[in-house]
Amino acid sequence: MTDTLTNSATAAATTTYSVAQERKIVTAIPGPISAALQERRRAVVSDGVSSMLPVYIAKANGAILVDVDGNQFIDLGAGIGVTTVGHTETSVVAAAIEQSRDFIHTLFTVTPYEEYVRVAELLAEHTPGDFPKKSVLINSGAEAVENGVKIARKYTGRRAVAVLDHAYHGRTVLTMAMNYKAMPYATGYGPLASDVYHAPSSYPYHDGLTGVEAAARTIAYLDKVVGASDLACLVVEPIQGEGGFMVPADGYLPALQEWCTANGVVMIADEIQSGMARSGKYFASEHFGWIPDLVLSAKGIAGGFPLAAVTGRAEIMDASQPGGLGGTFGGNPVSCAAAIAVFEAIEANDLLGEAQRIERSLTAGLTALKNKYNIIGEIRGHGAMMAIELVQPGTGDGEKAPNAAAVSAISTYAGQHGVLLLTAGTSGNVLRFLPSLALSDALIVDALSVIDDAMAALTTSSH
Ligand SMILES: *Cc1c(COP(=O)(O)O)cnc(C)c1O
Repeated sequence: MTDTLTNSATAAATTTYSVAQERKIVTAIPGPISAALQERRRAVVSDGVSSMLPVYIAKANGAILVDVDGNQFIDLGAGIGVTTVGHTETSVVAAAIEQSRDFIHTLFTVTPYEEYVRVAELLAEHTPGDFPKKSVLINSGAEAVENGVKIARKYTGRRAVAVLDHAYHGRTVLTMAMNYKAMPYATGYGPLASDVYHAPSSYPYHDGLTGVEAAARTIAYLDKVVGASDLACLVVEPIQGEGGFMVPADGYLPALQEWCTANGVVMIADEIQSGMARSGKYFASEHFGWIPDLVLSAKGIAGGFPLAAVTGRAEIMDASQPGGLGGTFGGNPVSCAAAIAVFEAIEANDLLGEAQRIERSLTAGLTALKNKYNIIGEIRGHGAMMAIELVQPGTGDGEKAPNAAAVSAISTYAGQHGVLLLTAGTSGNVLRFLPSLALSDALIVDALSVIDDAMAALTTSSH
């Protein structure tokens, strides 16, 4: 197959891009050069590391990925919500180059530098809540979760950690026990960490509960199964990521926070995927009127450079002894310089407004598809964190049985036609739209036309 597909519409007028913001397929997918690289990889890269779409990337800019064979993909995944400001965003690239020329590493716990302090100031300013806040910077999301747990245990003197059903918190030895799904994250990697409890969540599409009802169910579990006096922390994604972008019912999160506060439990927002302007607010907790005790950031914070943070109430963050927190690469100067540029880009380019624009355009396009195809059960999310849950109409379960086969077929079709579309969902039943905020309306229309074709192909082939 050597068809050429291009999107005639031009990119957002205000920004100039080094790569044309258009979809273009010039070889079979994967192309010959990618296929050769895949062969080399098989010999030396662990089979435990998978790749969703094995096209090897040569360049990326804005919302477009260019592979080694010259194919261009509309990137609806942004490296799983990392390049929120856009690939190779000009100010992020400039900040990283400039910082690399000055110095690349000293280790903040040996000799400190201003960039680390500035990132902590920006986090204190932009995370929810109007009280003194402090931060520790580390390298990855899972490391932020681990540090959040350590900090909460130290502050409370308690042992237990609670999470919600459908959660995802990472792949380290502690965090794999905090995930909902054993496969692939924990299976065979045990024994799992003890004192981790999985409480029922709020999943309005399936449980039909109000926020108050769902919170009562969660709290009953925490009270009876764990016991508040042993519970150090409750870790919650305000919008669940890998689980399938579940938006909790109104009132659910504030009710849990109220119970945590009354019982001396530290409530931690895992904003690793939902934070940093992606949802149309700086942090998704704000959509729900939730002011967490601690907030975890990572993914989008530094435009693609590895950086993560735990930010929260000063008295909780200060309970740890000097030397108890940190790590060699934590708060790397180049990552910090990039993060400062990301915070500036959010303001300068009105990225909260751009996320809201993407929500409006995606919602309009997806609603049109939902009216056309009855496999779309629900459209949900906020900002550039939207998803559709695919169902099997006519199979009972209130017409909501998971349709993983359709999710997989549509995602594969999209990849073959130049649209990188991520899947999610505990049952593999969700397609997620997690693009950079540089994604233009023209690219949204074009990407949705491919998904429309994919759904049409599915309908045809199933009859
Ligand atoms: C990605 C993610 C993590 C883990 O982050 P890593 O950087 O991959 O370790 C934790 N929590 C949530 C909600 C995530 O999306």
